[in-house]
Amino acid sequence: MSKRDYYEVLGVARNAPEAEIKKAYRRLAMKFHPDRNTGDAGAESKFKEAKEAYEVLSDAHKRASYDQFGHAGVEASAAAGGRAGGFNAGDAFGDIFGDMFGDIFGTGRRGGRGQRVYRGADLRYELELDLEQAVFGDTVSIRIPSLVRCETCEGSGARKGSKPQACATCGGQGQVRMQQGFFSIQQTCPRCHGSGSVISDPCEKCHGQGRVEQQRKLSVKVPAGVDSGDRIRLGGEGEAGPMGGPSGDLYVEIAVRAHPVFNREGADLICEVPVSLLTAALGGELEVPTLDGRVILKIPPETQTGRVLRLRAKGVKPVRGGAPGDLLCRIVVETPVNLTREQKDMLKKLNASLQSDGGRHSPRERSWLDNVKHFFERARS
Ligand SMILES: [Zn+2]
Ligand SMILES: [Zn+2]
Repeated sequence: MSKRDYYEVLGVARNAPEAEIKKAYRRLAMKFHPDRNTGDAGAESKFKEAKEAYEVLSDAHKRASYDQFGHAGVEASAAAGGRAGGFNAGDAFGDIFGDMFGDIFGTGRRGGRGQRVYRGADLRYELELDLEQAVFGDTVSIRIPSLVRCETCEGSGARKGSKPQACATCGGQGQVRMQQGFFSIQQTCPRCHGSGSVISDPCEKCHGQGRVEQQRKLSVKVPAGVDSGDRIRLGGEGEAGPMGGPSGDLYVEIAVRAHPVFNREGADLICEVPVSLLTAALGGELEVPTLDGRVILKIPPETQTGRVLRLRAKGVKPVRGGAPGDLLCRIVVETPVNLTREQKDMLKKLNASLQSDGGRHSPRERSWLDNVKHFFERARS
């Protein structure tokens, strides 16, 4: 659908000052406002068109971008700012229109009898898990402090045996019409705040709120493969809505505790494996732990510190599906300690034998010494 030029929509010149743009928009908004044109789709689309044009042309940055690039220059921001975003704090006529627009674009939903229904707040709970629980899944019971529906008044807020009365100010509509100059506008009822009813005899337990604070015990099923930062949504387990409104959701956010043996990186598990000097030099086999038992890790001869040996599919099966990760064993060659005089003598003999061959048994030391030599030569020249 091709869009009309915003200046054309508002009927102003391209160099119109801000005040004129405001005036033009205000005139169109009054004319085409849905409250004054009930059921007229043409008026509604004209109203939206004017609103969109105003949102762009009333913002100096967006207007400059529109002047330069046309609709393409403001497309993204117009889409993002669709919800009453054009009414900034301090906007000259936000005061007048505030309640009207609030009713059209606001977040409150309406219940069956024209009453506004508010949803309870979402809750967030941080659930600490051991690595094993996160990898294999678990069912964990948690306690959350929350607002729940008051059972004494069944959420109505009125004392048992009494009922909320229809608000006399608005006749139970939640809305009042007010004469503002030459036209009348609808506003949220100031007495009942839009609920349409007032409680003359409040429930003692919840003081008319319809909700009470309570520790709730919940059982959370943690799927296998979750990781820190993953969220589990429990629909309807958040705070109860005020006056019997629907409950919000509970978001359980996973935080995995540090593990003494394994680090996790995505689907891979990483662990350090200390290896004796002898095993590292001659090769051998070693038992290493995995999350589901021990496995044999083959150490090839001449293994150096830092070498990573990969055990396929011994990592984590990701919660969102896909192949399991690997277990990465990072080898750390251990220097022997607490040597006896005899052991020291044997090492000295071994060392002498290795040295007599011209350093070919220490590949790293050799290349390191070469690098140091080159470094000094470069520094000198
Ligand atoms: Zn109550
Ligand atoms: Zn009222």
